[in-house]
Amino acid sequence: MVRRDIKGRGISDPRVLEAMAAVPREAFVGPRQARRAYADGPLPIGEGQTISQPYVVAWMAEAAEVAPGDRVLEVGTGSGYAAAVLGRLAETVHTVERHAALAKDAAERLRELGCDNVNVRHGDGSEGWSEHAPYDAIVVAAASPDVPGPLREQLHTGGRLVIPVGGRWSIQRLIRERRAESGEFTREELGAVRFVPLV
Ligand code: SAH
Repeated sequence: MVRRDIKGRGISDPRVLEAMAAVPREAFVGPRQARRAYADGPLPIGEGQTISQPYVVAWMAEAAEVAPGDRVLEVGTGSGYAAAVLGRLAETVHTVERHAALAKDAAERLRELGCDNVNVRHGDGSEGWSEHAPYDAIVVAAASPDVPGPLREQLHTGGRLVIPVGGRWSIQRLIRERRAESGEFTREELGAVRFVPLV
């Protein structure tokens, strides 16, 4: 999967490739989906939600430029898969999930897998997680018409915010915003994506 779907489609950061190879995706889906765990597509994880496509997880991790000492916020824990990948790249990952059942399952799974630097919380991630701010990188796994203000506020100077921007049915674009020394944000469009909505 990593060779064909991740590297083969243009992800080149060796640390991201290593993290993708190290995290067992089958551990994040139910037994009925295990067979398809290494096909490059989203899969159902309950509550009408999906585990992200591996390529997209790698793309967002690379775009967020996560470095070894970084503190990362993820919005939309889902299965915990992307959090586990980010956890291999960063110092710590704080991740927020709005569905209590998904947050609980993800936290358990991450603990069993020994992802000790990943903290899961049940709550509204569009408010961020101010207790641990500022973050060197923020990765949002659900699409929003605009960048939620609290996420910008919780971004460190020099920090990167990666988020799909767009409506539920309209075109969504993956956006990277950087917070400059001046406090200004610069925005780049990285490409078209499809995510469930940020609620
Ligand atoms: N990163 C996940 C995939 C997440 S799918 C993985 O690797 O499995 C998007 C997730 O965002 C869903 O679980 C959904 O419940 C959650 N979500 C949507 N809006 C949210 C919000 N406001 N706060 C926190 N989580 C939210």
